[in-house]
Amino acid sequence: MRSSIVLALCATSLACGARQRDEPHDSARVTLAASLRGPARDSLRRAHARTSHVIIVSIDGLRPDVIARSGAPTLARLMREGRYATAARTIVPSTTIPSHASMLTGVGPMTHHVLWNDDRADNRAVAVASVFSWAKAEGLSTAAFFSKSKFMQLFPPGSFDSAAAPSRSEGIWPGGMTMTAASRYLRAAAPNLLFVHLAEPDYAGHSHGWMTAEYVDAVRTADESLGRLLAAADSAFGHAYIIIVTADHGGHGRTHGSPRSDDVTIPWIVWGEGVEAGAPLTEAVRTMDTAATALWLLGIELPRSIEGHAVLDAFVRR
Ligand SMILES: [Zn+2]
Repeated sequence: MRSSIVLALCATSLACGARQRDEPHDSARVTLAASLRGPARDSLRRAHARTSHVIIVSIDGLRPDVIARSGAPTLARLMREGRYATAARTIVPSTTIPSHASMLTGVGPMTHHVLWNDDRADNRAVAVASVFSWAKAEGLSTAAFFSKSKFMQLFPPGSFDSAAAPSRSEGIWPGGMTMTAASRYLRAAAPNLLFVHLAEPDYAGHSHGWMTAEYVDAVRTADESLGRLLAAADSAFGHAYIIIVTADHGGHGRTHGSPRSDDVTIPWIVWGEGVEAGAPLTEAVRTMDTAATALWLLGIELPRSIEGHAVLDAFVRR
């Protein structure tokens, strides 16, 4: 079994117009897949898959320029051994829920219409398909572990085989708690697609300011949690998996949400089997590309509706 962990980052907009620049939409494959059911359909998907397991990790409010300053060893390792972009772009508004909606549906806010970013009972789940619903439609297993309570309203029922988040009264979980739950589930259930959200850097940014000593410490804490997840993934999948690490937005002062570069620039790192090591990605990356890359890795033909493209340059050609 192969696995992929995707840490989500956002990317710049130019050169990302096509879903897959080098692998255009394959209408014949889509038609064939639509005519198949059960094992035959799964065999077709597997033939195109790079892995059986993808992990996406989003570190809330992680600015790319804090990674080197913090000396975070796990992030540094993933960049050294994988491929990365330090100037990927998220959407505007560069806020948590709308940005994650784009990251995980592969479309912009004009399409997914998720602009809320609070935790109210009348918030509406995203009405377009997500990486989770596409994966479920192919018979794959999905799971998500969130560190903020408002995430539980973002995706409709049936998106996950298992999901966890703080209650509304709890509001936020320490990343260590989220990661313990995610790692335990990963070992027990080995989901095909796992999403994990860590909140500490964003919390420190709002409390003390982005790039302050407290913010840098919070990045180190998130990095430690990330290292634990990698250990769990190694235990469950051997080295046959891929992880994407990214962020929903950056920040400046004690806030974010604007179009300014500090807010919309995010990291995007991919690591694992089949990833070419060691060099920055030369192509622009947008947050919508996280969804597209995860689907491509799992062998799922990208829907025509998706705006992101798979970051093919990161992977060994075959
Ligand atoms: Zn956020």
